[in-house]
Amino acid sequence: MVCDAHLHSSHLPLADISSGGLFLSCSSSSADWAPLLNDPRIIPFLGIHPECLKDDWELELEELDRILKENPAAGLGECGLDRRFYKLISREEQERALKAHFDLAKKYSRSIVLHQVQASGALADFISGEKPEIPVLIHGFSGSREILKRYIQLDLFISLGPGVHSGGVELAETLKLIPDNRLLLETDWPYTAGRGSTSYKEILNQHYEEISRAMGVDFKTLAWRIRENGAVFTN
Ligand SMILES: [Zn+2]
Repeated sequence: MVCDAHLHSSHLPLADISSGGLFLSCSSSSADWAPLLNDPRIIPFLGIHPECLKDDWELELEELDRILKENPAAGLGECGLDRRFYKLISREEQERALKAHFDLAKKYSRSIVLHQVQASGALADFISGEKPEIPVLIHGFSGSREILKRYIQLDLFISLGPGVHSGGVELAETLKLIPDNRLLLETDWPYTAGRGSTSYKEILNQHYEEISRAMGVDFKTLAWRIRENGAVFTN
């Protein structure tokens, strides 16, 4: 009965999803929208990843508006800011697209899943301006203590991926700062870089085991807590 707060169930290799879990599955581009909507095992999140923004993204979001109207279970995402692509799609353009995603989330009272790479401060500034009253998830958090504190102040949900176990993140410190009711766990499958495990289930289970050890909380209690938090995103 675990929750995976961020995966791409429609990308290869396909995730081996058992029933009974809670899976928040995101699109990267409009090509993923139909497969996600047709998969009853997951909660679909529809949007355009900054890397996948094309010239006609505004037209695509008009289509998304119609899809959201007809699919009350669907949330928004993943969308966000990614400095690695600023040369191709400027920061201004990425922020315009992000704003359009937020407008849809607010219009239909849906939750939203955010992506950021090397733009954590810009994203915090943006969200401060938005003052969203919808659940907002920062996926794959790996930032500094300072940025984490800002995100917590903004009442965001923080999702940690398996990358937190391979150094670079002060895991114990990070876990201490995140309130129990704002913590989520994810695989980002299939973009979880090899950690020795190969299967989806192994990666998800191992991640939960390592986090439960780091928190000193037993596996079942942790799984129950994360599922409760994930349920906030079921629209
Ligand atoms: Zn992702």
